[in-house]
Amino acid sequence: MVEWRIERLDDEAVPGSEPGSPAIGTAGISRSAAIFLRAAATRTRWSLRTGLRGLIGIVYPPACIACQAATGEAQALCPACWRGIGFIERPYCERLGTPFPVDLGAGLLSPAAIADPPVFARARAVCRFDGTARELVHRLKYGDRVELSLTLGRMMAQAGRELAADAELVLPVPLHRTRLWRRRFNQAAVLARAVSRETGLPLATTALARIRRTRQQVGLTRAQRADNLQGAFHVPVAMRSLVEGRRILLVDDVLTTGATVNAASRALLRAGASAVDVLTFARIVTDGREVTT
Ligand SMILES: [Zn+2]
Repeated sequence: MVEWRIERLDDEAVPGSEPGSPAIGTAGISRSAAIFLRAAATRTRWSLRTGLRGLIGIVYPPACIACQAATGEAQALCPACWRGIGFIERPYCERLGTPFPVDLGAGLLSPAAIADPPVFARARAVCRFDGTARELVHRLKYGDRVELSLTLGRMMAQAGRELAADAELVLPVPLHRTRLWRRRFNQAAVLARAVSRETGLPLATTALARIRRTRQQVGLTRAQRADNLQGAFHVPVAMRSLVEGRRILLVDDVLTTGATVNAASRALLRAGASAVDVLTFARIVTDGREVTT
């Protein structure tokens, strides 16, 4: 997979320290000569690898992950796209993570969180689902740009650091197998993998299953969304011990009305999870209006 290939390319090998270097032609030569040859071979490999990376940089100069403009480093955003991200920072509702227009003090809940408390404990997102964020999510989801998950996952780990500090397990919101087959990959799973790598938390991609194929949520009202997701998620019996008593960090790409993550959280709590927190890359901020993606 592309993401792992990139990770290996980024993994600097220090000359002479690479473990498991093959012993080349050591028969019949002295030990010091063998060590010298092995170090020389490692150095050559390292130089080749560095040279190859330089060559890739010449053929494919680093480009902005959203608009393809030239950037100083790979897997980064250009200044214009960076400014196009509506980062969500405090003050926000401590449950829903929705931003407040003014700071009224720490630990406040929004009227929406009080009137209709979510099943999950807390939700956090890097940014609003508009501008650059919308472009990035669409590229990841429909453009098969799996490598974007490295950058987005890093930003998510940062935005969700308080949730990650309390969590014991990272889980993606699963796709139904027919949708997975059509789309070939689950964008939530690649983001969850990146978050797991950034935070060091264990990842369980199959602990939660989508057992019922649901209609696309687009265009449905809040009530219809909840109805549509009734019984859609399930923790397989073999996975119960993994979930039981654990605080889960549930990962998805975008949080819209929260109906999907509420349904997934309900299934996890029924299976014995102690709590579920939700971390997404983007979220829709609507001031209570119904919207669609
Ligand atoms: Zn850009």
